[in-house]
Amino acid sequence: MVWGSLEAAKGLVSGRPRGARALIILLSLDAGPAERSAVAEALAGLGVTVEEIRLGGRFGFVRTGGAELPAESLQRIAHVESVVPLAPRAPLALATRQHGVGKAVAVGELGEALFGGGHVGVIAGPCTVEEPAALRDIARTVRAAGAAALRGGVFKVRTSPHAYQGGGLPALRELAAASREVGLPFFTEISDPRQVPEVAEFADALQIGARHMQNFPLLTEAGQTGKPVLLKRHMAADVDEWLLAAEYVLKTGNERVILCERGLKSSERHVRYLLDVGVVPWLKQRVGLPVIVDPSHSAGDWRLVPALARAAIAAGADGLIVEVHPRPETTRCDAAQALPPADFEQLMDDVRTLAALDGRRLHAPPPVAPVAPVAPSLSPVAPAASATTAAPVRSRKVGT
Ligand code: PEP
Ligand code: MN
Repeated sequence: MVWGSLEAAKGLVSGRPRGARALIILLSLDAGPAERSAVAEALAGLGVTVEEIRLGGRFGFVRTGGAELPAESLQRIAHVESVVPLAPRAPLALATRQHGVGKAVAVGELGEALFGGGHVGVIAGPCTVEEPAALRDIARTVRAAGAAALRGGVFKVRTSPHAYQGGGLPALRELAAASREVGLPFFTEISDPRQVPEVAEFADALQIGARHMQNFPLLTEAGQTGKPVLLKRHMAADVDEWLLAAEYVLKTGNERVILCERGLKSSERHVRYLLDVGVVPWLKQRVGLPVIVDPSHSAGDWRLVPALARAAIAAGADGLIVEVHPRPETTRCDAAQALPPADFEQLMDDVRTLAALDGRRLHAPPPVAPVAPVAPSLSPVAPAASATTAAPVRSRKVGT
């Protein structure tokens, strides 16, 4: 038996095999010799190797090896009062592995859009893909203002089954065509593992929305495409749940995960969701993944979007995803929060200024967009003659 301190208990397990989780199993105060033997027998029966210990007048055991049963299971043994991990829980093996590296995630076939590593990237576009001409109009506007990528929903995730559900695959083709024509990589949301192969064929990055943050088969399927994954935080998720969802993607070997804070449910009625700005610096100090903020879904009101976006960049966010629409009165989705183009342009100026304050820069595509009108059928497009060197030449697989 080891008598004394936690340090002595830690010494017992210092030579344990890597990965084994050391636990202290403390017995209830009234446990006498008979109860201690009963617990020891129960542990041996479960294949758990222990050393008896006495800590501060209490009897207990330290797990030194054997079966890796979780604390909750050992807690169920009679006369066990509590089971305490000796080392802090470290479930975020993959997200924290990149700690301190601050690598950028590149999006697009040529890595046109960068998020993190000193680059601030802005994704902008309509909530949902509707009229093709309007889509191109928005894409050109946001590109000219300095957005690094286009957004647009085609499989909309709606609270009500009676609400508009998105344009599906035809809209995806429109979005891909507009993206290529305007020269901006694009993000679009997936909500079902069955959509993933088809969407990944066209999309530069896959968005997993708040409501699907814990759709584990979807996370795995998205990760396996190797495409960058924008993972939004569920409106009621704590940070560990969010990061564990990211682990599902990272576990596939895909390291291109971008976290996105988009606001939490709260008792507040005046904003749609309560934006957790504080989580941005918290994550930046602990996790190596880029973190961006969605001020649109948080605010639910376009008049609040610029202020929330500025707060996010000032807090260290690696980018934004913003809904922009020139004629919000015509859209069937999230009209109230769509930012008019002029306000978006002003916001981008502010983002540039704020990013520069802490030595970062807005990562935007070269000023001249490749102009290569394409039909929505996605027939192959010849590379556009461009005055700039880095104009993206897209070779995305085409469909009908
Ligand atoms: C969206 O980006 O269109 C969306 C539905 O966002 P969220 O998942 O954050 O609600
Ligand atoms: Mn929306």
